[in-house]
Amino acid sequence: MSKIREIFDSEKIEKLLEETKNPTENQIMQVLSKAEKMKGLSLEESAVLINADPKYTENMFKSAWKIKKEIYGERLVLFAPLYVSNYCVNDCEYCGFHIRNKMKRKKLSLDEVEQQTRVLINMGHKRLLLEFGEHPGETPIDYVIDVIKRIYSVKEGKGDIRRVNVNIAATSVEDYKKLKDVGIGTYQLFQETYHRPTYEKLHKGPKADYERQLFAHDRAFEAGIDDIGLGVLYGLYDWRYDTLALISHGQYLDKKYGVGPHTFSVPRLQPAETVKDKWPHTVSEKEILKIIAILRLSTPYTGMIISTRETPSVRKKAFEIGISQTSAASCTSPGGYGRQKDLKQFTLSDERSVDEVIEGILDEGLLPSFCTACYRLGRTGQDFMDIAKPGEIHNFCRPNAILTLKEYLEDYASPSVKEKGEAIITHYTNHIPSEDVREKTKERLIRIEEGERDLYF
Ligand code: SF4
Ligand code: SF4
Repeated sequence: MSKIREIFDSEKIEKLLEETKNPTENQIMQVLSKAEKMKGLSLEESAVLINADPKYTENMFKSAWKIKKEIYGERLVLFAPLYVSNYCVNDCEYCGFHIRNKMKRKKLSLDEVEQQTRVLINMGHKRLLLEFGEHPGETPIDYVIDVIKRIYSVKEGKGDIRRVNVNIAATSVEDYKKLKDVGIGTYQLFQETYHRPTYEKLHKGPKADYERQLFAHDRAFEAGIDDIGLGVLYGLYDWRYDTLALISHGQYLDKKYGVGPHTFSVPRLQPAETVKDKWPHTVSEKEILKIIAILRLSTPYTGMIISTRETPSVRKKAFEIGISQTSAASCTSPGGYGRQKDLKQFTLSDERSVDEVIEGILDEGLLPSFCTACYRLGRTGQDFMDIAKPGEIHNFCRPNAILTLKEYLEDYASPSVKEKGEAIITHYTNHIPSEDVREKTKERLIRIEEGERDLYF
């Protein structure tokens, strides 16, 4: 079998989508009841949900919420993207950083990286996702490594960045080894669209090499990186096809390495400078929510990320049906935290501050979290999956969310968020099932009030 077909079989996907057209109520309910057992779904079962009539979407949302609560609990992890450079040699039709755009280009110096890191720490962030365009001359791997080292070295007040996730262009095993050695969290790389003819039509430059992109995660595994993020840019091709291909890619990684994807990302196309605004496969708000629910049902243990590309109302619903991580108060231009707003990659739909995002999450009764514990304790790859797959990770997520929220309330919150946050902390601390962990959490909350930081399970 060709390597591409091991990852996903295009003909099979098209056939499954055709064969499962107009599924009966009985078929849909059977799939939902299997999904609630949290062992995942086959491609065929996922296709049944994809083809389900919109009147069953609420049923899907309910099952997805049950699974999310069971596996991850009520926590929602926050991070910020840091755009380090907008130099790019590629011409991706959908991206404002493409080489055709005669915009001003900027890459941060290491001192600017440090300055941006300080701004982000002062907003309350503990996790960053680094974004670079692809430019071997301006942003070679050694520059990327220096940037990560500088970020980890910064201490600002009582805060620091504890996990750096990275999104760089597909590269070699050798380069991935360097990323592994410097201590990255997740390596994220999106296929954008799995549909090869569309992919090849939309890309020019080194990224146009479809196989370089599709096999990159295998090279990262080979280099020892075991937290991998997959994603699709929704709107480039038919969402039904791309969602099944994404699920299939996740199943392939799980089967081959015993470690499924750490995260799925579900960005939708957004308007950007010099990018056409009409696309034939636009995904509606209702459809993106359905996609999130289907991914949660089909691959229950994989974290799911939504960005500030989406409006607060879509994000709110998405948190309830499957999203476990979200960006907050993002800026998509290099050096943009504080200034430089004109160099951005695309337009954002949620421009609220971290404090406002946290307040919204608290108002939903959910638990905002800045936790980075798994990565710090070496609970990555197979070790992480061994806890996440049986649905036990929430036993760590809840107390760690409580402790990191407490840090935020002590160091950065407005008075109203502090009041709401303390109430949520009391509520969820009382709901920690293990008496031992509950008591340790209470004791650590006092230590945080007394000035200690970075306590975790
Ligand atoms: Fe460059 Fe990435 Fe934008 Fe493509 S999507 S133009 S590779 S920054
Ligand atoms: Fe993520 Fe692990 Fe923290 Fe849970 S305990 S929020 S899985 S780092």
